Amino acid sequence: MGHMPYIKVENNHLVVPNKVTIGYIEGDGIGPDITTAMIDVVNSAIEIAYEGDRSIEWEKIEAGEEAYEKNGKHLPEESLDQLSRCVISIKGPLTTPIGKGFRSLNVTLRQHFDLYANVRPVKYFPGVPSPVKNPENMNMIVFRENTEDLYAGIEWKYDSEEAKKVRNFLSTQFGVNLTDDTGIGIKPISKFKSQRIVRKALEYAIDNKRRSVTLVHKGNIMKYTEGAFKDWGYAVASEMFGDITVTEDEYTQNPDAFSGKIIVKDRIADNMFQQILTRTAEYDVIATTNLNGDYLSDALAAQVGGLGIAPGANIGDIYAIFEAVHGTAPKYAGMDIANPTSLILSSAMMLNHMGWKEAATSLENAVTKCYAEQKVTQDLARILNIKPLKCSEFTMEIVKNMKKN
Ligand code: NAP
Repeated sequence: MGHMPYIKVENNHLVVPNKVTIGYIEGDGIGPDITTAMIDVVNSAIEIAYEGDRSIEWEKIEAGEEAYEKNGKHLPEESLDQLSRCVISIKGPLTTPIGKGFRSLNVTLRQHFDLYANVRPVKYFPGVPSPVKNPENMNMIVFRENTEDLYAGIEWKYDSEEAKKVRNFLSTQFGVNLTDDTGIGIKPISKFKSQRIVRKALEYAIDNKRRSVTLVHKGNIMKYTEGAFKDWGYAVASEMFGDITVTEDEYTQNPDAFSGKIIVKDRIADNMFQQILTRTAEYDVIATTNLNGDYLSDALAAQVGGLGIAPGANIGDIYAIFEAVHGTAPKYAGMDIANPTSLILSSAMMLNHMGWKEAATSLENAVTKCYAEQKVTQDLARILNIKPLKCSEFTMEIVKNMKKN
């Protein structure tokens, strides 16, 4: 247990002490390498920004293979208690155990702490190899619903009793006839859960002075789930944030009357996939359902250099777990060659979330400088055909850059 105090929650707001205990899960595979890198960088960023007035005590939380070897459980109760005490934590990637009866640890964590927003900022770092001509136009942040739609996991195998019953029910009650070889999946999308993710995206847009929030959906085909997401999203914008938002339609008719307001628009998902390539600069904050967000956030990351550098977080009303977006890359485990950028940029998101913005900015600027100077790890060095830095050398460069600024 940490000696420094934990974050407190008062009236749904975080109270972050200047000396605070934060939880971390190392993760499997390359997890320990990139976690060591992340902790070094965060400690330096805080020290440089606050000169000893603020600091983090890191509380180790066991999960994944390490926990299984010690306790026979991938996610012991004690670890869940620690995550709960810490309120905010950061984690490396965890192996999803393969076999019957195992649920992904990531999904378990999201459900246990009701981390309903998967947040993925995507922007370009000059110097990173990209497959598009103008990657610098990208600066989006995706708020993806994290608890329903596909993640509700309601599915039955085609030859199960449950699937038979559902097919029978559909046939007798609604005259919908499905053949006996049809598997069943149910896609639930509710008003409450749609509105809370859109609200989170809007709050972010307001707090960070962003220009627009785009609702991405497939409402032309599925009117009462995807279409409803869009309608409920517009309703939140007008009912809760009517004085600071404007719909795209209203804005287009009279731009002068609404200057400075956050524009709320919507796009059908397939169109959105071409728009992110053809009109990249026109999109900013995105709020979307689970499956659309799954595809979209990876496509966006690919446009500016791939998942190896993309950060992410799972955030609820109280708890938040920041994470590397990529997996455990087991072939690079313990070799000191993995790229730690994803986890390091997640830690900058975490610092921002804690309100320690000076440290976050200093850290992000230092990473930006590394890429601009083409100081990169092997994943990018091999594309650029330059000499790679080890994970630890890259980490030292980031720290050096922060000290210089
Ligand atoms: P992965 O671990 O992301 O690795 C796939 C490939 O991506 C690696 O072989 C490597 O490519 C590259 N890569 C990913 N991260 C990198 C980094 N930081 N530095 C350098 N290269 C990196 O995906 P996977 O192989 O599909 O999954 C492995 C395990 O991770 C699975 O057990 C999966 O369930 C788990 N996983 C966990 C999370 C999570 O905890 N959030 C997310 C995804 C997957 P090259 O081979 O081209 O060098």
